[in-house]
Amino acid sequence: MDALYYQMDLLKTLNEKLIGSDRINKEFLDLSGNAYFYYNCADEYFEATGDWKGLTGMGIQKLTDTELLYDCVQKEDEEALREILLADETGMREMVREICLKDGKTWIEASAFVKYSENHENHEKFVCIKDITKFKAQNDELTYMAYYDSLTGLYNRNYFVQQLRKMIEKAEKNHTSVSVIMLDIDEFKKVNDSIGLILGDELIQDFGQFLSDFKNDHTIIGRFGADVFILGIYDPCGRSTVENIHHEIKMRLKRPFTLSSRDEIYINISTGVAEYPDAGDSAFVIIKNAEVCMFHTKEENRGGIRYFDESVLNRFLKTVSMEQRLRDAIDSEGFILYFQPQYDCRNGKLRGCEALIRWQDENGDFISPTEFIPLAEKSGGIVPIGNWVLKEALMIYSAWKRQFQFDGIISINISAVQIHKDNFATNIIRLLEQFDVSPKDVELEITESVFINNFDEVISKMTLLRDHGVKVSLDDFGTGFSSLSYLKDLPIDTLKIDKTFIDTVLSDTSTGIITESVVSMVKKLGFETVAEGVETEAQYQYLKSIECDNIQGFYLGRPMAREEFEILLMRSAGTRQKG
Ligand code: C2E
Ligand code: CA
Ligand code: CA
Repeated sequence: MDALYYQMDLLKTLNEKLIGSDRINKEFLDLSGNAYFYYNCADEYFEATGDWKGLTGMGIQKLTDTELLYDCVQKEDEEALREILLADETGMREMVREICLKDGKTWIEASAFVKYSENHENHEKFVCIKDITKFKAQNDELTYMAYYDSLTGLYNRNYFVQQLRKMIEKAEKNHTSVSVIMLDIDEFKKVNDSIGLILGDELIQDFGQFLSDFKNDHTIIGRFGADVFILGIYDPCGRSTVENIHHEIKMRLKRPFTLSSRDEIYINISTGVAEYPDAGDSAFVIIKNAEVCMFHTKEENRGGIRYFDESVLNRFLKTVSMEQRLRDAIDSEGFILYFQPQYDCRNGKLRGCEALIRWQDENGDFISPTEFIPLAEKSGGIVPIGNWVLKEALMIYSAWKRQFQFDGIISINISAVQIHKDNFATNIIRLLEQFDVSPKDVELEITESVFINNFDEVISKMTLLRDHGVKVSLDDFGTGFSSLSYLKDLPIDTLKIDKTFIDTVLSDTSTGIITESVVSMVKKLGFETVAEGVETEAQYQYLKSIECDNIQGFYLGRPMAREEFEILLMRSAGTRQKG
């Protein structure tokens, strides 16, 4: 009997323990915020637990209650819910679905696990529902960051390339084409500098927003760099699709973008276009070639559009290779100076010379400075090149002074990029001292373009040098704005009349009249004149007759190597001694 009591006590304790742990488990399930139900098809036993009400707004007690859940979810997710609720012997043992509730904001993850009896006749089902709204939002944000540009909402570079690849694959299958349009905002840096980075971003945003209107099933749009945008068009109708888009963009740019600061900003764009399959067979190549065309537009026809062809690519490759060789030439100082004589018209005596840089590449070919100087100006290489020219010219001049008692003028070309360097003026003054050259013997040739940016800075540097005794010459007069009225305010001593004037001075009456009045006006302002590119006796005589001060040109002497110019110096020293 005792044994029986003992057994009963034991069972009671066990039972209490079980009820206790059951309660704990239930408590945990409620706290988890999830909702669960269990169903056994053998005896149709159903049990629901967890926070059904909190999650779905429905209390679930029996199997038929679960049908109420269809009313809680978005229409398009009903099917997914059905798969979970009806999951049974067919197909997968476990399935997971993400489902959005009616409010359009709350997301749940519903999972069903189906367990079969050994004979496969019966099954049990465990269904769990979790709130994944927060996780979904984080995930969406991560996805967004991975695929979209945060400023404009357009595709980012990686995602654009990925999508373009898909387009190209499709075009390959269907024997159609894909056009890629690359757009770059002209002088965006200047805009940014003037309105500040924040408004600059706003401008990019507004322009991106405008571009996003072109997005459709056939067109993808991305932001490729700070101010570079790209469109991919599947199966365009020849060039007209691209032309229409380009036209619409250009029309929009006729109006300014109004920023929150009320600034009204006008922008312009340069465009490059490349098409699959003509311009290449992969997304990478097509994008690269659209970019090459865009660069080409920037250089040749700013604000315009350029379609890909072999000639653009060849030019680009030539430039790239020249840039590389130029870098090597800068490192190894692989340049020499030539000198072109300038003569005084009144007495025919040597006034001095202009130092002109020469670059001989590894094949011994001379590459014209009109080709490589602009390249060096863009890459910044002009600064070391310009410094080399200054040093070399002053060193050679100093030797001529000692050797031939030469006291003529040496003219040295200075590029705008050089002048904008902080130490420009002080560097020249230091070099003059180093080579013991008198400032009055040196003339710096600058063009009107140096005054376009930072007018005051250039004026103050030039004034400093002139106060020191250095001469300043305005080169290529007649090719820029060429306004005589502004000349009087510039710190210059000499004006060089460009070859384009001299070329037609005899054949074109109006050029003759202009040249004559320029010479006489410039004299009145107290500047010296030099006529450049004089090639004939007739031109020379004419310029002499209108009292142009000096002549430079092939007629009296081509640019020549140092040794050759020294023969001239020897001769002129001889004449001086005889005289
Ligand atoms: P520029 O300063 O106008 O130099 C005059 C150019 O005209 C020189 O070309 C010269 O050879 C050429 N020339 C002179 N007389 C005649 C003539 O009668 N007929 C013809 N057809 N041409 C004539 P080059 O040496 O090829 O230089 C071209 C340009 O390269 C220069 O134009 C200048 O802008 C730039 N450059 C040359 N050397 C330097 C330099 O050391 N530094 C910088 N920054 N630029 C330079
Ligand atoms: Ca010059
Ligand atoms: Ca010139």
